[in-house]
Amino acid sequence: MTEQILPGATLGVLGSGQLGRMFGIAARRLGYRLHVYSPDSGSPAGQVADREFSARYDDLDSLSEFARSVDVVTFEFENVPSAVTDCIERSTPVRPSGRVLGIAQNRLVEKSTLQNLGLPVPGFRAVRSASELNDAVTQLGTPCVIKTATCGYDGKGQAIIRAAVDCESTWQQLNTAEAIAEEFVPFECEVSVIGVRNCEGQFTHYGPFRNTHANHILDVTVAPAGLRETTERAAVEITRTILEQLDVVGVLCVEMFVTTDGQVLINELAPRPHNSGHLTIDAHKCCQFEQQVRSICGLPLGSSEQIAPAAMANLLGDLWNPPPEWSKLMERPGVQLHLYGKEAARPGRKMGHLTVLDETTELAEAQVREARSSLHR
Ligand code: AMP
Repeated sequence: MTEQILPGATLGVLGSGQLGRMFGIAARRLGYRLHVYSPDSGSPAGQVADREFSARYDDLDSLSEFARSVDVVTFEFENVPSAVTDCIERSTPVRPSGRVLGIAQNRLVEKSTLQNLGLPVPGFRAVRSASELNDAVTQLGTPCVIKTATCGYDGKGQAIIRAAVDCESTWQQLNTAEAIAEEFVPFECEVSVIGVRNCEGQFTHYGPFRNTHANHILDVTVAPAGLRETTERAAVEITRTILEQLDVVGVLCVEMFVTTDGQVLINELAPRPHNSGHLTIDAHKCCQFEQQVRSICGLPLGSSEQIAPAAMANLLGDLWNPPPEWSKLMERPGVQLHLYGKEAARPGRKMGHLTVLDETTELAEAQVREARSSLHR
């Protein structure tokens, strides 16, 4: 049995954004100490940490010092080089492991791994030149989607190819050495399941949640998703298989497309808590962040039971011009406000979110959208 890391111990998190902040709040509530590592200072997670290491990800001396100062390391930002996790793993457990991180960092490796596990993914091709892009578009047909293999998120580093295009200029614009071309999935909706697994192999999950995006960024999540039972079961079993087969310890979100005939296709993995799971803080007995603490510490998992139908709406920096009128929101006692302590509000930057619980998802969604609109009325 893996040794349990008990309250009073120090947890380390790589990355210092809102996911680290909410992890830190859960960790502190359980009596843990928190050290945060990122190039920033005064960060959302740093504000709730006992110690904030502000250093570059390639500063191996600072990383070693950070690793030695904590009992276990997890992350909230997965685009760190493998040298980082290799360095930390020399002295301290990293959960999920650097191997899982490596799979999720590269869309080609990710899709190939999932395909090899016999799991459903959209048809795809590896693309490493303009002529390979041309071949891929011919094989997949149009429309199709081209994405950089690494460092893409929230729709960055991707383009839809709608008809016969100039592959040479599209390839140049992507400005990458490696990409993945995918079939365009005419999905009915996008869903996510958040899986949690501890060192002993205990598994639990949240969702499926139904997600709506605006400009490629998550906008609103509702739970339950209102899917057919067979579709729901398929999404959960895909998630369980991934966590078990990749031996994930920690939290991992699976983003999926649901087609009109109820088929589920995996879009991508995030080996950490996910924006769509923020509503678990208010709507579930034990939230995704507390489960992250429990799972990486080798503790039994909490209950992922949902208390009531819920909806979450993101608050992006676009809403800060002029600054939102928080007092208007406070007149709505059923609306839970979460702000991430970010000073600079830029368009598209995630500044906070709202959650509402109600008797149905429709009522919760209507209320959360209305509450968000009220910030400028
Ligand atoms: P991603 O960065 O892979 O999560 O993609 C961002 C968004 O682009 C997704 O949430 C989808 O709305 C859309 N998208 C990505 N891949 C596909 C695809 N193969 N077919 C249709 N839409 C896609």
